[in-house]
Amino acid sequence: MIVTLSETLDFRDFVLLDAHNSETAFLDNLKKRFTEDLIYTYIGTLLISVNPYKELDIYTKKQMDLYMGVNFFELPPHIYALADNVYHTMLSEANNNFILISGESGAGKTEASKKILQYYAVSCPSSTLLDTVRDRMLMSNPVLEAFGNAKTMKNDNSSRFGKYMDIQFDCQGDAVGGHILSYLLEKSRVVHQNHGERNFHIFYQLVEGGEEDLLRHLGLEKDTKRYKSHSPGECSNVSSINDKNDWKTVKNALSVIDFDANDIEHLFGIIASVLHLGNVHFDGDTKGYATLNTNAALRWVSKIEAKSEEVKLVLSPFTVDHAIYARDALAKAIYGRAFTWLVNRINESLENKDSGRKTVIGLLDIYGFEVFSVNSFEQFCINYCNEKLQQLFIQLTLKAEQEEYEAEGIGWEPVQFFNNKIICDLVEEKHRGIISVLDEECMRPGDATDLTFLDKLEEKMGNHPHFVTYKLADKKTRKSLERGDFRLLHYAGEVTYCVVGKRRRKNTSQMSVNLRNMFSGFQNLLFYMIYSFSIGFIDKNNDLLYKNIKDVSALGVATQFKNSLLRLTEILTAKEAWYVRCLKSNDNKQPGKFDEVLVRHQVKYLGLMEHLRVRRAGFAYRRRYEVFLKRYKALCPATWPHWKGVPSDGVEKLVQHLGYQPDEYKMGKTKIFIRYARTLFATEDAFEIS
Ligand code: ATP
Ligand code: MG
Repeated sequence: MIVTLSETLDFRDFVLLDAHNSETAFLDNLKKRFTEDLIYTYIGTLLISVNPYKELDIYTKKQMDLYMGVNFFELPPHIYALADNVYHTMLSEANNNFILISGESGAGKTEASKKILQYYAVSCPSSTLLDTVRDRMLMSNPVLEAFGNAKTMKNDNSSRFGKYMDIQFDCQGDAVGGHILSYLLEKSRVVHQNHGERNFHIFYQLVEGGEEDLLRHLGLEKDTKRYKSHSPGECSNVSSINDKNDWKTVKNALSVIDFDANDIEHLFGIIASVLHLGNVHFDGDTKGYATLNTNAALRWVSKIEAKSEEVKLVLSPFTVDHAIYARDALAKAIYGRAFTWLVNRINESLENKDSGRKTVIGLLDIYGFEVFSVNSFEQFCINYCNEKLQQLFIQLTLKAEQEEYEAEGIGWEPVQFFNNKIICDLVEEKHRGIISVLDEECMRPGDATDLTFLDKLEEKMGNHPHFVTYKLADKKTRKSLERGDFRLLHYAGEVTYCVVGKRRRKNTSQMSVNLRNMFSGFQNLLFYMIYSFSIGFIDKNNDLLYKNIKDVSALGVATQFKNSLLRLTEILTAKEAWYVRCLKSNDNKQPGKFDEVLVRHQVKYLGLMEHLRVRRAGFAYRRRYEVFLKRYKALCPATWPHWKGVPSDGVEKLVQHLGYQPDEYKMGKTKIFIRYARTLFATEDAFEIS
């Protein structure tokens, strides 16, 4: 057959590029498209998105209308095309779907998920009644971002929690409700931020944008620098962020989601308490115990929460270090529970009580793979989560492909790829994985320390090819390791985690009983609800609560996280999967800059070349016989204008007439499978000419 790669067909689907399958050609194509502001490219139905770091004029209502109901491959690649394809698949197959959006921090996952949500909110059929649900869905974003996002070194609006959102549709295709699951909020940010980073946006929004009356009521001053919990990052003003405006957006969004004035007052009361708590300062007395000299901050905490001017005096023999640790644990616990409460309230407002049949499209926007100069417990959890999602991707893409060939009776040659299951096992295996060892050490009474944890790890993981510590390393590797570190060779690259002083504490997350008692007189109903909502907290005085939570609270944070990821995997595997792979174009947030080394690294670890090979080792395209015949029947006198026999026979006649060679296609039970894209190309060219 004559191969004509026509100029007009740009390389918008890598599967079409069977002549150009090297990594360099792959990157050249991405770069070429990127420089023309074509940030989207397909590998089959997988969408690659390269962050342009500038506003593009491609997200208008006009663009949405253009993509509505159009065949996936007919228009240039777009996030709307994917959203539309998923939507129509859901409607025609009446099945549940999810879109997994992945990529490293700053690659554009949250932006992509917002664009998909907007597409559904704007483009799906509408009725006035349902408009409220849609508004609420859209407005849940600014609220959750205010409380769960923060400026980091990698991203000015980095999601510091994982989010899975189900959008529910009725059988007419109307969006009728939603539900959000949140994952592991990075609570430590409330008390500490690395240099150049900020606390969660909401703190700055409240202080900068809050109305005078409100601030007075909460005892806050309009100066973020006054608050010690913000100072470590030394970075309150960021050019890309306008806290004052964002405050207005958040307040408006809260009212759309149905928060009344009372809720709002209580919610910000809690945020203010966390700010004041950060200013509670301890001095040491002659015996080394902590004394409280600055009571003003604490007075505000009790005024807001206990509605009392009096500070309840709690005497407790804490060292200064312990007192600071307990204060910070309390601030983190309060904020974490406020966030959980917020998600629950949003879910109440998105709930659809109608019992009719619904199908869903799930959107997964979860923190990307992270490597900082110092990586601690949070990065360990985040990277483990990415490892799990990569495993899911591997299983589903290969599985889906294999199952289809099997169902159609087509032979299949498996492709070699790196299976990261070995790393998932290293982290999560029962009794042997890192998380199990961590739990054992945390629960062990007596002399367990960070270093005994590391010893145990070395003992158990000794020869594992993806695990190394200073003691286990060879001379060369040792130079880049400290004694309190361990290093994991993740699928996306190696990360060194710092164990000393951090890990065990973060895993236990228990509050001192004394501090808890101190807060027991609090009146704020919301505070109480948040407080009693907790699961990681053993309240032995409350029998009923204690009984219910005992089992759960005995688990460490990492195990709870592992279990929630397991549950998420179950939710996802029951649905049809679609993928958006976001790539970061450069590390400086610079518009239009394409850093080849950086992009090449992401292409590698996201397994895009492998995915392409899997797609290509099988069959590039498949079409149901009826569809194929309907489109191309004009190319063959035997099938034109009507084919009277069974469609598969008609297709056979047609492809023989077109000169398809035996290795170019296979006839399945219901579909024709075309191995090379060029074959379909040539047919398409012939069709255009005819
Ligand atoms: P994290 O894992 O840190 O949450 P992320 O992958 O969610 O990162 P985003 O917050 O979505 O990253 O994107 C980071 C920034 O990149 C955005 O604030 C925006 O400035 C820019 N950006 C991302 N996608 C686009 C896009 N499609 N068009 C224009 N700018 C974009
Ligand atoms: Mg994000």
